[in-house]
Amino acid sequence: MCSGRGKALVAMKLYLEGEKGKALCETDGRVSTTFRYRDVPFSDGSGVAQRILAGVCDRCGKVVSIPSQSTQSIAGRRLMLGRL
Ligand SMILES: [Zn+2]
Repeated sequence: MCSGRGKALVAMKLYLEGEKGKALCETDGRVSTTFRYRDVPFSDGSGVAQRILAGVCDRCGKVVSIPSQSTQSIAGRRLMLGRL
């Protein structure tokens, strides 16, 4: 019997360091980005997540996008910080 199992599996795109992407930069508008490991501050300023893979603007070098794989690890690190 065919239950269609496996179709629900969603492959999340994983980015690698050095991979190119496109994002919107605050200062430069639409730019090409390169994925690099960067220290990214939490949005509420409670700390910094170290070595997060993020999209870096090719023009000004600012972090302009953070892939979901990295936001998950930021959340994980926040959880760990909260327990300390
Ligand atoms: Zn920029």
